[in-house]
Amino acid sequence: MQDNKCRCGREPFYFRRQSGEVLCKRCFSKGIERIVYKTVKREKLFSPEDRIMIALSGGKDSIALAHILSKIEKSYGTDVFAVTIDEGVRGYREEGVAIASDVASRLQIEHHVFTFKEAYGYTLEEICEIAKMKGIQLLGCSFCGILRRRLINRLALKLGATKVATGHNLDDEAQTFLINVFRGDVERIGRSRTKPLVAREGFIPRVKPLRYVPEKEIAIYVYAKGYPLYQRECPYVRFSLRDEIRDVLNRVEENHPGTKHSIVNVSDSLSKLLEERLVSSKIERCKVCGDPSSRKVCRTCEVFSLLGLHES
Ligand code: SF4
Ligand code: ZN
Ligand code: ZN
Repeated sequence: MQDNKCRCGREPFYFRRQSGEVLCKRCFSKGIERIVYKTVKREKLFSPEDRIMIALSGGKDSIALAHILSKIEKSYGTDVFAVTIDEGVRGYREEGVAIASDVASRLQIEHHVFTFKEAYGYTLEEICEIAKMKGIQLLGCSFCGILRRRLINRLALKLGATKVATGHNLDDEAQTFLINVFRGDVERIGRSRTKPLVAREGFIPRVKPLRYVPEKEIAIYVYAKGYPLYQRECPYVRFSLRDEIRDVLNRVEENHPGTKHSIVNVSDSLSKLLEERLVSSKIERCKVCGDPSSRKVCRTCEVFSLLGLHES
């Protein structure tokens, strides 16, 4: 932290290395809100008629998202509510669910909690145990991501949402770009945006208002707003490719500030170049469950058949 004051004359609170700015708590918080507001405006993420479902895990990103969106969107009269998914990871998820409930009541927004167990008949822990017994090499995060995506879309449909807002931040998006490069998945690089390029029948559009806000600044914003920081780490995260990439990216960013922004800018440019290919890619219905999918059998049904399980 540098010694000089914020441009408004107040005491310093945060030093932004990339730009060299010294900011007081107020200017820092307003600056974060401005980045999100500008993203929402520029990308036309919402309209006043929307009913926005916030995926509120209780982690810092989703808290910042809920706080800022309820502030921006309520001023337009847009309907905002939150959903928390309890995947069923003992010792990890309970705290997040409790924090999410507190945040929703502080913001006075409607809040629903749903579990994997209710939706699928199994907790994530049970699924990972079965996978281990069967010698299946998929990681907890892969199961979790696939099952959560499907559940969120189904809940959005059921609860009448017209948009789903998620707390993906700049770090997540830079990591996702590198994961897609490592996997050679050009289509997914193209699809990584603040909102889907085209509306697809059966999918409620998922939007990412925090795509340009660094993770560290979100944590500081949440702290500055007086919310609790959820410190527990999911036991499955340590085995993921994302975790390895996160460490590497943090090291590079430390020595070369601005790297994460550059990666997301490259991702945006490539996505524009790929537009034609994305618009023409087809969406079908899964042959097993009937949900919309870009494949003949959706990833959720594929996972259940791999594990030899049936959805309850
Ligand atoms: Fe799910 Fe992985 Fe997140 Fe844990 S770290 S909640 S397994 S996506
Ligand atoms: Zn200031
Ligand atoms: Zn299916």
